[in-house]
Amino acid sequence: MFNGILIDKDDSGYHARLGSLDEADLPAGDVTVNVSYSTLNYKDALAITGKGPVVRKFPMVPGVDLAGTVENSSHPDFKAGDAVLLNGWGVGEGHWGGLAQKARLDGRWLIPLPAAFCAAQAMAIGTAGYTAMLAIMALEKNGLTPDKGEVLVTGANGGVGSFSIALLAKLGYRVVASTGRPQQSDYLRQLGAADVIDRATLSEPGRPLGKERWAGAIDSVGSHTLANVCATTRYRGTVAACGLAQGMEFPGSVAPFILRGVTLAGVDSVMRPYQDRIDAWQRLSVDLNLDLLALISREIGLSEAIEVAGQLLDGTVRGRVVVDTHR
Ligand code: NDP
Repeated sequence: MFNGILIDKDDSGYHARLGSLDEADLPAGDVTVNVSYSTLNYKDALAITGKGPVVRKFPMVPGVDLAGTVENSSHPDFKAGDAVLLNGWGVGEGHWGGLAQKARLDGRWLIPLPAAFCAAQAMAIGTAGYTAMLAIMALEKNGLTPDKGEVLVTGANGGVGSFSIALLAKLGYRVVASTGRPQQSDYLRQLGAADVIDRATLSEPGRPLGKERWAGAIDSVGSHTLANVCATTRYRGTVAACGLAQGMEFPGSVAPFILRGVTLAGVDSVMRPYQDRIDAWQRLSVDLNLDLLALISREIGLSEAIEVAGQLLDGTVRGRVVVDTHR
């Protein structure tokens, strides 16, 4: 038996509870992992609270990220004792995930834990940091360099936002952070933001084109914010779209694309091919200032995860939440 969070749905409704789970109930897979740390992402909070249709099969153990040690494996790339990391692949949505002390997984979903990080650090970074890195790689692929001008990061206090700021600043960009929590400006500046703007300037319906400001942008907010970011991106600039914290709709105009050659680059971390994952984590090993992890993340126990999931959706959590599965 092992401890984990289990989500179930029955006639009386949707429930998430911490309980004792039976190893015999683990799903099929060729690698069994002793999970030491997981995290709480926005998607995990939606899954735990039932506020978004994340869970596709019940009962489900949530947790789209995990880090731990292989207990046993029939996959040729992994053996007992190997330190491993997993992000996405529908784990925590359609296959039991990381918010438990054990997981049984398809070995093709795992990557070796990068040597630069311990399991807790990898989970402080988690899908949020890995997605921020993928977004930066998308901007770079479209030719963004620090001399091109300011880069906007929306959803600044969130996980993706915090890592985007930290990484871009270390790479030499002038970063502007957009937030609904101006009281956290000191935090955003410690991460490396040169300027902080009120997200209300971007979140209302806007015009098809505005004054050109951003050479690039990382948007984890979507909706009117994404439309306004595109409308204010400079000629041939790139916007990496990775999230929907404001909404899933894109109420925008084609004007920025056809008149200013703006590129809208979609960023998906979940089904990302293996080599992209290795590349992104390798870049994180080099481009992330590890000293910032203590500022960006805090640790909780598995027993607190259900309560903190609610706070995350209320927008009161700053940065990242790491979950120690053994307390
Ligand atoms: P967080 O909850 O940590 O951060 C989201 C941030 O968005 C908040 O901190 C807040 O920042 C801002 N925000 C919240 N509500 C609103 C609103 N109504 N309008 C405008 N801004 C808002 O989430 P993550 O950083 O983990 O994820 C961010 C988004 O990216 C989510 O939608 C998530 O699903 C998505 N995502 C997508 C991935 C992919 O593969 N494409 C991978 C990872 C995440 P502030 O208080 O500073 O304004």
